[in-house]
Amino acid sequence: MDSLETELDRARELDVAELADAIETIGFECTRCGACCKSEAGGCGGSEGETEQIDDPEPHTATVFPDEIRRLQDAGDYDFRDVARPMPYGIEETPDGPQGETFEWALQTDDCGDCTFYDETDGVGACTVHEDRPLICKTYPFSVALGGTSQPMGEAVDEAGMVRAHECEGLGRDIPREEAEELAAALKERAVRELEEAIGVRENYEPTDADGVVVHDSEGQKRPDGTEL
Ligand code: SF4
Ligand code: SF4
Repeated sequence: MDSLETELDRARELDVAELADAIETIGFECTRCGACCKSEAGGCGGSEGETEQIDDPEPHTATVFPDEIRRLQDAGDYDFRDVARPMPYGIEETPDGPQGETFEWALQTDDCGDCTFYDETDGVGACTVHEDRPLICKTYPFSVALGGTSQPMGEAVDEAGMVRAHECEGLGRDIPREEAEELAAALKERAVRELEEAIGVRENYEPTDADGVVVHDSEGQKRPDGTEL
């Protein structure tokens, strides 16, 4: 992979019309199946009071940037931990509790491992923070073929031009041009933000021997509740 700075330059030069062409070629219409909002085990999918806890679900993980966390907090008057949790990669359970360093925040999950903002009625999923959902959600199931950007839900299952498509039952359906352009613009914004965040994390990283879990984000070193170390 080229340097993050080189990939960031490429992301800033992405042509939204070309990305929209690629999205139209692949095709997409969300069926609201909820697969990208639920745990890998399929979650419970219900709203509070309707859920049935399942044993040891593989929780949903979706990256959320520090400013997106604040926007979600403001949208619902939520505490930090209502919205986000440390990305679990790099964190180990020990007799003294979770320990380790991680480099991203993930959307908070419920007891079923689903995104905390996911609701489902009669098999139809809904995002309760739709207007304020993070870029990773606005752009699912797509990513761009640039190093240092995230590839959600594993390997690509389809691609066209610079656009990759990931597992999603809505792929291959006709998409109106206007929606493809909106998605393309968000996809470019996400690629730029992911690379800016990665560069910020690298530049602000400071080794720490603090106990417990430490999240290194582009703003510095933080505790799991979002407070600075
Ligand atoms: S997996 Fe695809 S079709 Fe299902 S909710 Fe997510 S974006 Fe929509
Ligand atoms: S914020 Fe909304 S779109 Fe994103 S994972 Fe959660 S429920 Fe799904």
